[in-house]
Amino acid sequence: MDTNELKNTVFHTVIIGAGASGLFCAGSFNARKIVLEANTTPALKVSVSGGGKCNFSNMSVSADDYISQNKHFCKNALAAFTPADFISLLEQEHIPWEERPNGQLFAKNARDIVHFLLKRARKNHSQIALGVRALCVKKENGLFVIDTSSGQLRAQYLVLASGGLSYPVLGGNSFGFKIARQFGLSEIEERPALVGLTLPKELRTRFGVLAGNSLPARIGCGKRSFEGPILFTHDGISGPAVLQASLFWMSGETVWIDFLPGKKASDIFAAYKNTDKTFCSALMKEGLPKKIAKAVLGGLERDLANASRAQLEASSLAVNRFAFIPAGTAGLTKAEVTAGGIDTREINPSTFEVRRVPGLYIIGELVDVTGRLGGFNLQWAWSSGFAAAKALEKRF
Ligand SMILES: Cc1cc2nc3c(=O)[nH]c(=O)nc-3n(C[C@H](O)[C@H](O)[C@H](O)COP(=O)(O)OP(=O)(O)OC[C@H]3O[C@@H](n4cnc5c(N)ncnc54)[C@H](O)[C@@H]3O)c2cc1C
Repeated sequence: MDTNELKNTVFHTVIIGAGASGLFCAGSFNARKIVLEANTTPALKVSVSGGGKCNFSNMSVSADDYISQNKHFCKNALAAFTPADFISLLEQEHIPWEERPNGQLFAKNARDIVHFLLKRARKNHSQIALGVRALCVKKENGLFVIDTSSGQLRAQYLVLASGGLSYPVLGGNSFGFKIARQFGLSEIEERPALVGLTLPKELRTRFGVLAGNSLPARIGCGKRSFEGPILFTHDGISGPAVLQASLFWMSGETVWIDFLPGKKASDIFAAYKNTDKTFCSALMKEGLPKKIAKAVLGGLERDLANASRAQLEASSLAVNRFAFIPAGTAGLTKAEVTAGGIDTREINPSTFEVRRVPGLYIIGELVDVTGRLGGFNLQWAWSSGFAAAKALEKRF
């Protein structure tokens, strides 16, 4: 960045964050703008998303796929820029994509998406300043003044697209929230989401031996439950079903696991009652791996033939509804997203302009809208970025 030149330039728009929402916003309107990115590589989260294949959206996206204090806030933006709109842009650029189970849309390579975002942003007169960190923001004489690690810039409009707190190694930090607080905006408490859960102390030794093992299971939290693989880690559980549940889990709440979804342990025990089987060996016959069956049963393991009714009931419950209160989550360093964020009451749902700070726009993960696993968070980045761009396009 040529700092002297920048000092004398008033940009139409400065976008802070060359991640998913910032780059997509930059590419969706034509104006002289600069996108600041603290990392030397743009859109690191997009590059690693979907295991390097970028689960960029989902065939079916609606407000029900998101959590927010205001369920309706996301509707306008999702309707104005849909998954089909994103697919159509990829097809214009001949970027291959595929649909996977549950409507999940993946690229062949996440790098294709990053290149597409950069090319489109540059085509629409965006200068992308890599390795430039925004440090503080002021509003002076109707202009935004942004101090950066490479000097000061001024702009008529400012888009905060600096993302959430999660995955600090990929750029997650509190900058956007700090600026929002400085402008007096209210927040919904941020918390890690789409993240593993840690087991309470009393279960860690019992299940810790299973680290690295996974099985198809159902995990429930409140009124919701999710079926899919559960992976045991050294201090807890992870895997797609657990990540989904983590979005709805609030600290202190009970979660339950069904280790044999679709099968009733009480029926299995009844079928083997008059045999030489134990609880564990009966469950193994029905496909539960020995190590997992032993951990699930804990001290309940015994011969079926001698088991009392109470013991049968307790063991059945352990298999189909193993309830516990997680100690916590694996934390922001491992969370795919930050739930909570800037209160949607502060933001116009059609333009993403902050109601009490004209000219300031907030998009992406910073906003209190969090999608479930399956491409919904990137779709939110595209849709919110697009809405802000369409509003900015009109402001000449
Ligand atoms: C490992 C992982 C895998 C994921 N996989 C998927 C997936 O497959 N599908 C899906 O839908 N979602 C996925 N997500 C979530 C998705 O990546 C995010 O929700 C999305 O990237 C958020 O977009 P954003 O623009 O708000 O923030 P980001 O994409 O995080 O972009 C914010 C950018 O701002 C930059 N920045 C921050 N502070 C400053 C500053 N002060 N100055 C300058 N730049 C700054 C950051 O370095 C970053 O590049 C994944 C997340 C992770 C961590």
